[in-house]
Amino acid sequence: MRITDALAIMHQPWLSRVSHSLARGEELRESITQILNRLYEKVQQAVETGDPSWIDPALLEWADSRTESELDSMTSSLPPILDQILQITVEVAQETLEAQDALLLTVNLLPIFMHAYGIAAHKEMELNIQHISRELEKANASLERLDSSKSDFIAIAAHELKTPLTLIEGYAAMLRESLPSEAGKTPQHVILLKGIDNGTRRLREIVDDMIDVSLIDNDMLSLHFQPIWMNRLFQGILYELNSSLSDRILAIEVTPFQGIEEMTFGDEERLHQAFHNLLSNAIKFTPDHGKIVIDGRLLPGFIEITIRDTGIGIDPEDQTAIFEKFGRLGSVSLHSSGKTKFKGGGPGLGLPITKGIIEAHGGAIWVESAGYDEEKCPGSTFHIMLPIRKLPPDDKSAKLFLPLTEGN
Ligand code: ADP
Repeated sequence: MRITDALAIMHQPWLSRVSHSLARGEELRESITQILNRLYEKVQQAVETGDPSWIDPALLEWADSRTESELDSMTSSLPPILDQILQITVEVAQETLEAQDALLLTVNLLPIFMHAYGIAAHKEMELNIQHISRELEKANASLERLDSSKSDFIAIAAHELKTPLTLIEGYAAMLRESLPSEAGKTPQHVILLKGIDNGTRRLREIVDDMIDVSLIDNDMLSLHFQPIWMNRLFQGILYELNSSLSDRILAIEVTPFQGIEEMTFGDEERLHQAFHNLLSNAIKFTPDHGKIVIDGRLLPGFIEITIRDTGIGIDPEDQTAIFEKFGRLGSVSLHSSGKTKFKGGGPGLGLPITKGIIEAHGGAIWVESAGYDEEKCPGSTFHIMLPIRKLPPDDKSAKLFLPLTEGN
């Protein structure tokens, strides 16, 4: 028997078996019957011409007809369906044809099915990649929306908190003045005023941090360049942190590295803030009796500063997240609220601000740590790269500092 005749005999039983096997409901069966009919027609043409690529359009159309939710759940994947169809085809051939005709038909159909597998697998991969890209785009868009809501929230909250905070500060100052002089104040007055002072100072720090974060988020951080020397910068910060260091029994060492005495242009106030944050964190996350080392090196055009501590360390997978807003880590159980107490909690804005300041200078910051372990304390090393500027970037400051920079 000719293969085309064999295929014609098998058509109806094949169609009913395959459609029942692939589709459960009546409606679904109807739509799948159309697809299967087209496929069968193309298979017949492929057999007649000996060219398997006849089935490509029908297969591709089938692959394209899959919905997003089918792609999402990875259901109705074509290669396993083709597998099922091939099995049914062989069974139907054996049931409806003579053994020899069935064998001949199977031998002729096999290369067509092999070709179909290849096409289906390739198309499937293409569709899945497109689907995953679409999902990624959606996830990115919603992350961007979330980030911008976070930024908006910070900006609005900072603005709304500033006014009542200024009022409290003003009334607290008036209250202090209305009370008798230092010597005349009762011990209770002193305690109450100290409480108000501490509370408002902490709140002012948080509001200032929120304002800085929104300035950085909106690329509005403006730097005032002036000559700075890293050794002097560290001297000032360590002087401020001296009592915290001795309260916490921590040793600090500044290695006199090459470049520490080099003059460079930078925003002294902002860099002070950035390094103060990093050193406060080193104090906060290092247990008592630990050590902090400030070191560095001179590189072509850059100065690299490292701040190494013997603290609790940071998990490699958290080493990027800590530089994001509110990036304090869930894995670290914070004890108290405080700037330098061991594991003192903060709002998680210090490092994003530090990163913003360093990057606004054209620098970079990253952290290295073997991991987070409160028992073994593997420590963390923050690396800060700052470009060396022998001249200020703006004309105004250049004129102002002309006598200092002449000859550079
Ligand atoms: P905050 O100190 O307000 O929590 P930061 O942005 O300064 O926020 O730091 C974010 C988080 O990064 C901290 O909560 C802490 O988990 C981690 N971290 C920062 N510096 C160190 C450090 N030197 N050692 C260990 N963990 C650190």
